[in-house]
Amino acid sequence: MTSLRLGRLDVEIAGAELTLFGRIDDAAALGGLLDRIGHGEVTIDTDGVSFVNSIGMRERGDTIVLTRVADVLMAQLNMISELKEKVRIASFHAQYVCAACGAESAPVVDVAAHAASLAKMVAPRLPCPECGAPMDLGDFPERYLLIFKT
Ligand SMILES: [Zn+2]
Repeated sequence: MTSLRLGRLDVEIAGAELTLFGRIDDAAALGGLLDRIGHGEVTIDTDGVSFVNSIGMRERGDTIVLTRVADVLMAQLNMISELKEKVRIASFHAQYVCAACGAESAPVVDVAAHAASLAKMVAPRLPCPECGAPMDLGDFPERYLLIFKT
């Protein structure tokens, strides 16, 4: 595994998998990073990313898969329409609330498992980690799900 730092972004590289921590901005040239990995499908774990304003990628024809996309990053991905064509989101964090016990959490939503409802911008109900009752999305669906709308 290789570790490096691009601006305020820390990167760990293991084969065709990248794990990112920090901020993806103009100082973090992800394009150059992908050139080091080679072509094909690249999986990027963004659980530790807190901010993105530029993905900094040229057209490569590769499949960029984002996993465990952080809550704050989902909001920004949904506002940057150009990203929709460049990346595929495999899973993401979202704010949920439990009506039964009041618990709040940010579970990981698996996109493939809920593809049909996400395409209709309906968040799946997920079990509460505290009491097991079904939780609902605690924010406007547009904040997370616009990118999946078909
Ligand atoms: Zn609960």
